[in-house]
Amino acid sequence: MPTWLVTGGAGFIGGNFVLDAVRKGIKVVNLDALTYAGNLDTLGSLEGNPNHVFVQGDIGDAALVKRLLAEHRPDAVINFAAESHVDRSIDGPAAFVHTNVVGTLSLLEQVRDYWKQLDAPARDGFRFLHVSTDEVYGSLGETGKFTETTPYAPNSPYSASKAASDHLVRAFHHTYGLPVLTTNCSNNYGPYQFPEKLIPLIIAKALAGEPLPVYGDGLNVRDWLFVGDHCSAIARVLEAGRIGETYNVGGDAERANIVVVKTICALLDQRRPLADGRARESLITYVTDRPGHDRRYAIDASKLKSELDWAPTLTFEQGIARTVDWYLDNQAWVQRVLDGSYRLERIGQA
Ligand code: NAD
Repeated sequence: MPTWLVTGGAGFIGGNFVLDAVRKGIKVVNLDALTYAGNLDTLGSLEGNPNHVFVQGDIGDAALVKRLLAEHRPDAVINFAAESHVDRSIDGPAAFVHTNVVGTLSLLEQVRDYWKQLDAPARDGFRFLHVSTDEVYGSLGETGKFTETTPYAPNSPYSASKAASDHLVRAFHHTYGLPVLTTNCSNNYGPYQFPEKLIPLIIAKALAGEPLPVYGDGLNVRDWLFVGDHCSAIARVLEAGRIGETYNVGGDAERANIVVVKTICALLDQRRPLADGRARESLITYVTDRPGHDRRYAIDASKLKSELDWAPTLTFEQGIARTVDWYLDNQAWVQRVLDGSYRLERIGQA
């Protein structure tokens, strides 16, 4: 079984990915700085499992990364570590440049040096997979979808920093021959997502009977993918993707934010009606739009589907029902995030 160095594996997508990988018998060395978004509760079921080695640290700590590579000799590095929340990038872009740009560069340098000294079979099999976002492509009008050849046009400090990291990854392939792969995925949702992002935020507030903040007119469109399907796409690209290529990942599930919010309201009204009998839709409150809010994202994932035979397993309706049920069944996880130092300063919409 292979060994993978996963960065950002205590976050939302990285955490789901690590749980899947260890379940399959892969040894995972999990490097995560444990920022506000990192949560070891997510990995609680792996406690004592010798196939999961957790290391708290920064991807930009060159000495630490060098030591981990030398000690564990991974067959692949999968980079999830990032500052990931658009609203936070508007308030403080510097942290995004620190991790997403400078940190990724430092990681790439260490991985390149490690890869270069591997013997031939190991060098041939090695992969660096960089997990990125469709937000690098900017905003769409009413029609069209992002393909792998859509020009980059990032509009937020978050997407600009991710775009820079994607370019560095590409450059390390073209300049040094590092065997890289990049995935650009649409909006994810599912278990273990930090409740500053739209779906878990709305679930938490709707459960509590609080106002449900919706940006602008609520008609911004995102293309939603269940996190487990994103993880399976990453595993598939790692296994069979062509070196140096980028793959768009998406579930053909475009929904306006207001539709997402109303769907959650309906599911919760069925499962856990409010004590006073109100329909949760009555809690929807339109608030001032996010500055520079991209109007529409949509992903064309046909390259991934036709080349690597990947397909999502859940429709949006199935995935959102599963997600609502997960949050209902895991209130302790949510509560531990919501109380204490986790203060929601801005409403969150990914
Ligand atoms: P997240 O914010 O939930 O998790 C990020 C993790 O990275 C956290 O555990 C955090 O502690 C860690 N981290 C941050 N800075 C670090 C550093 N300097 N060194 C080491 N670890 C650090 O993010 P997520 O939603 O799980 O996203 C993971 C990746 O997927 C990101 O690169 C993001 O850009 C990308 N992505 C996310 C989405 C989405 O909808 N959430 C969609 C497409 C792509």
